[in-house]
Amino acid sequence: MAASPRPLLLLGATGSIGGSALDLVRLRPGEFRVWGASAHRRGEELAALAARHEVERLALSEPHAREDFVRAHPALAPRLTAPGGAGLLELIEEAPSETMVVNGLVGAVGLQPTVAALRRGLDVALANKESLVVGGPLVLEAAREGGARLWPVDSEHSAIAQCLRGNPPGELRRIWLTASGGPFRDLPPQRLASVTLDEVLDHPTWKMGPKITVDSATMMNKGLEVIEAHYLFDVPLPRIRVVLHRESIVHSMIELRDGAFLAQLGAADMRLPLLFALGEGHHLEAELKPFDPVTMGSLSFEEVDPRRYPCLDLARRAAENSAGSIIVLNAANEEAVAGLLREDLSFTGIAPLIERALSALSPAAPSTVEEALAIDEETRRMVAGWIASMQP
Ligand code: MG
Repeated sequence: MAASPRPLLLLGATGSIGGSALDLVRLRPGEFRVWGASAHRRGEELAALAARHEVERLALSEPHAREDFVRAHPALAPRLTAPGGAGLLELIEEAPSETMVVNGLVGAVGLQPTVAALRRGLDVALANKESLVVGGPLVLEAAREGGARLWPVDSEHSAIAQCLRGNPPGELRRIWLTASGGPFRDLPPQRLASVTLDEVLDHPTWKMGPKITVDSATMMNKGLEVIEAHYLFDVPLPRIRVVLHRESIVHSMIELRDGAFLAQLGAADMRLPLLFALGEGHHLEAELKPFDPVTMGSLSFEEVDPRRYPCLDLARRAAENSAGSIIVLNAANEEAVAGLLREDLSFTGIAPLIERALSALSPAAPSTVEEALAIDEETRRMVAGWIASMQP
């Protein structure tokens, strides 16, 4: 155990992952300290957090929220970095060299900070799956270059990492990703066209931010996770299976070459994978949500119905096509989800927009972060235009 607390840089500190990280800092006193924290626009929450944890450096990316913050908290203003993405990179530049970056950002904006941190040699606990989805090869290269470690915070990937511990990669036959199926797993398909935003956001087993909750309902989340697993564990796409598991107790499984299965079970609590990441792949002592196999009831595993979840298939097709198509897929999805959250797009409008984007653009694989973000930008502009033209 480190003699002095390990500094943490929380990107997306006021979101659901940030909240879990702060909880763990409280649960493991003396082991971690919050050195830096960023938020998008929740200035008041950032100020409260900065005071409570004596955070040295802060970023507030949304420029108007940043101006309000400076007016309301003049004493904290000197701790602020520049607005926008530049402020996040500033945090990464200035962080002490032993810092672990907890990337809880939402969407492709998470890529650049992930790459910058790894290149600098800072370990990253990655909850921002879009980093790997949009720039998988670039992220892995940055980790190699910087000699930094990348720890998955996604519950499925943490489960796989836990199962793989002690098993040589050559013994792995397949990865089995479990999916809850979201709120519409039993809804008659003809009702999907008329679901409300509240129904979309009512996830049966996990409490998470709105973007990932929508992605869970469409199962795009699982599609992105297939891609994430492909890069993270260097496993070919056909060897990653998705299985519907309603209870969200088995967080994922691996199948070894002799047919043996290993699974990781536990409560649906994001603090668990986060703690495993903060512990650098060790199970640290902590009293989290209690879990009791005797009372958990029975576990079920079912085939996923592809007609109910067209986004899952779109993700696989994009991934089989090229790294460029994956970026188009992700950007189109982010714009479509934003449209849904503004109530400019219906739930069943999401998949056709993504499919249309994938047919319209087929960029080559990017060789730099800038190229990746340019494809992302172009796709967003196009899809945002489509959504705007659909408005009455
Ligand atoms: Mg997950």
